[in-house]
Amino acid sequence: MARSALVLGGGMVGVSTAWHLIQKGYDVTLVERGEPGRETSYGNAGLIQREAVEPYAFPHDLMKLVQVAFKRGNDVNYRWGDLPAIAPKLAEYWWNSSPRRYGVARTGFEALIRHCLSEHESMVEAAGAADLVEKQGWTQIFRTEKGFEDGAARARYFAREFGVDSRILDPSTLAREEPALRRRMTGGVQWTTPWSVKDPGALVQRYAEAFVKAGGHIVHGDARTLANLSSGWTVQTADGPVSAEQAVIALGPWSSDLTEAMGYRFPLFVKRGYHRHFKWDGKLNNPMIDTDAGVALLPMARGLRVTTGAEFARRDAPPCWRQIRESERLARGMLDIGEGVEATPWIGSRPCVADMLPIIGEASGHTGLWFHFGHAHQGFTLGPATGRLCAELMKGETPYIDPLPYRPGRFRTGRRAFTI
Ligand SMILES: Cc1cc2nc3c(=O)[nH]c(=O)nc-3n(C[C@H](O)[C@H](O)[C@H](O)COP(=O)(O)OP(=O)(O)OC[C@H]3O[C@@H](n4cnc5c(N)ncnc54)[C@H](O)[C@@H]3O)c2cc1C
Repeated sequence: MARSALVLGGGMVGVSTAWHLIQKGYDVTLVERGEPGRETSYGNAGLIQREAVEPYAFPHDLMKLVQVAFKRGNDVNYRWGDLPAIAPKLAEYWWNSSPRRYGVARTGFEALIRHCLSEHESMVEAAGAADLVEKQGWTQIFRTEKGFEDGAARARYFAREFGVDSRILDPSTLAREEPALRRRMTGGVQWTTPWSVKDPGALVQRYAEAFVKAGGHIVHGDARTLANLSSGWTVQTADGPVSAEQAVIALGPWSSDLTEAMGYRFPLFVKRGYHRHFKWDGKLNNPMIDTDAGVALLPMARGLRVTTGAEFARRDAPPCWRQIRESERLARGMLDIGEGVEATPWIGSRPCVADMLPIIGEASGHTGLWFHFGHAHQGFTLGPATGRLCAELMKGETPYIDPLPYRPGRFRTGRRAFTI
């Protein structure tokens, strides 16, 4: 008899899990309150980041800390009023970012990133979504000599250590290859292996369509109605209650709404981000990110998408437009862009875990309940790779990646006794 599962959440992570489960012969219902791929997996930079072998650490460098504390840069912002609420989790993030502990996160993260392209490839093929994907990489650009020197050194290190390819572009080469750039930069690093997607939400929707075509069901419902039955799990949906033997929580930044209600306290927090599209009829050969300035320039279906760096705040706190305004100003200095497409910028939340690794595995206190969230800056990249891992674990197969670094039981902070 086919095994059955409820997948809660229709972002890149949930849809990819659902797709992998259906390939394994499961009867799968995906429960989503809206439409698949309309939240965080819609508003991101659309990069499938093969180069992102190092997760973002909390800075330990004093200069950087001072810059952040006094809000001198645009790449990181925070809301004063939210600090008391988020400080304990940030302290844990800082602690896990020490050079010794960070090595553990990097090893676990790199083991996933290594598979991001091949796992997307299978899904792109099944979904007939090749038209949404460009395979030319993206370019990191620099505005100071020091930034360029450090960036080039990092690129050489990544090539040596992780086999990640790149091209180091001196200022003249960069200017020649990207004539639309109005400002002369000090150089660039073109990461040549990543992919870029011109409509990230549409890619998730295509994956969701492939899931339905393979026999999956998508229903509207509120995941917070999840309840435990003697034989499995049930959730209330617009089509009535739907039940299955197993349930996966893949609610991205909303995962804590459900896990906390069920008694699990993980060190989850969000880094919010913003984007806005601008009318633009120019051309960039590659998407560009000026990481130091905290601005990304991304040619997309709706126009040039300009995104920001990270904002530490409560998920549901009111927006603060400072970073997106500054990113717009910086973008206008680099490209001849027109007016904004939307009246109001988009805001979303990267779902982060204090030790920089996603949480993937079965709940210690509930049989058949699975966790799959916390992909932070790279959930769009990693959804298919961790979706496969999660599906293999659920089915009891030998997983293709060692799941130990991502096990929920690595945290002892829950009310329940987690097994280590
Ligand atoms: C500005 C920005 C740029 C980024 N750039 C990149 C990038 O270039 N590459 C990359 O890999 N990552 C990037 N990210 C991160 C990436 O977008 C996220 O890690 C990823 O989208 C998380 O996917 P998810 O499926 O976990 O969450 P989501 O996409 O948010 O999906 C969660 C789903 O759960 C649903 N849901 C929530 N509550 C309920 C409920 N009660 N009942 C039913 N459904 C519910 C939501 O509607 C949503 O569809 C970026 C993020 C931001 C903010």
